[in-house]
Amino acid sequence: MNSIKTENLTYTYGVGTPFVKTAIDHVDLEIAEGEFVGLIGHTGSGKSTLIKHFNGLMKPTEGRVFIDGEDIWAEGADRKKIRFKVGLVFQYPEYQLFEETVYKDIAFGPKNIGYSEQEIDESVREAAEMVGLTPDLLEKSPFELSGGQKRRVAIAGVLAMRPRILILDEPAAGLDPRGRDEILARVREYHQQKKSTVVLVSHSMEDVTRYATRVLCMRDAKIAMYGTVDEIFSHSEHLAEIGLGAPQITDVMIGLRARGIPVDTGIYTVDAA
Ligand code: ADP
Repeated sequence: MNSIKTENLTYTYGVGTPFVKTAIDHVDLEIAEGEFVGLIGHTGSGKSTLIKHFNGLMKPTEGRVFIDGEDIWAEGADRKKIRFKVGLVFQYPEYQLFEETVYKDIAFGPKNIGYSEQEIDESVREAAEMVGLTPDLLEKSPFELSGGQKRRVAIAGVLAMRPRILILDEPAAGLDPRGRDEILARVREYHQQKKSTVVLVSHSMEDVTRYATRVLCMRDAKIAMYGTVDEIFSHSEHLAEIGLGAPQITDVMIGLRARGIPVDTGIYTVDAA
């Protein structure tokens, strides 16, 4: 079964103004349940606009979005339920922390879903543990925490709703390499434990190669390529087509090695021009 499916999905900003811009252009996409998709593409290629359609935050100009087979813009569709099913972690999510304690911040989503007090407590503690926050931090103010810890609190707030589909927009941006590895390893754990579907937007080719099962590459509002990590990244012609430079190709190789996917360095020839 597909977790996420789009049919002819199109989104145009600024319709009827001089600033009209089609950010998603007739995209047909199917993401199967349990996949971990790395979403890549240059700035402005349409990644953020695409993921905001997956939980009903944006309404297509044209076309349809299906979550677990349900057309989320059909008449009578329960979009509140979709927002709980599809957890979206924005870039720099820590800027959205606002409660006086870490506990309350993580509990905000579960409360909105209508969990009982006991379910709220269980989901908060489970989510905190999943992102590596120790119980003593729960009663602190989020503003007393380090940058990396704040990021974890924000991610825990989404995990506490136990989303079947988890979408993250650059969740490791701005963290040091250790913080980055920690966060992504936790995301992978969530994916594996809950058998959930994950979409990870990332500029880091190493992270995508290391963690994703499939790679989705956007270019100019369309899907340029979609396939397994192996299919896409083990072929030099694909790397060239995606437009990766030498440093990014090195990152792909590091990621492939880390996963034990054989790397034939001979195929990665980079044009000196
Ligand atoms: P990405 O996430 O890949 O950087 P975006 O989805 O943010 O791409 O943007 C896709 C295109 O839509 C870009 O050309 C961008 O300038 C444009 N765009 C994004 N948000 C808006 C907006 N609020 N109003 C007008 N144009 C926008």
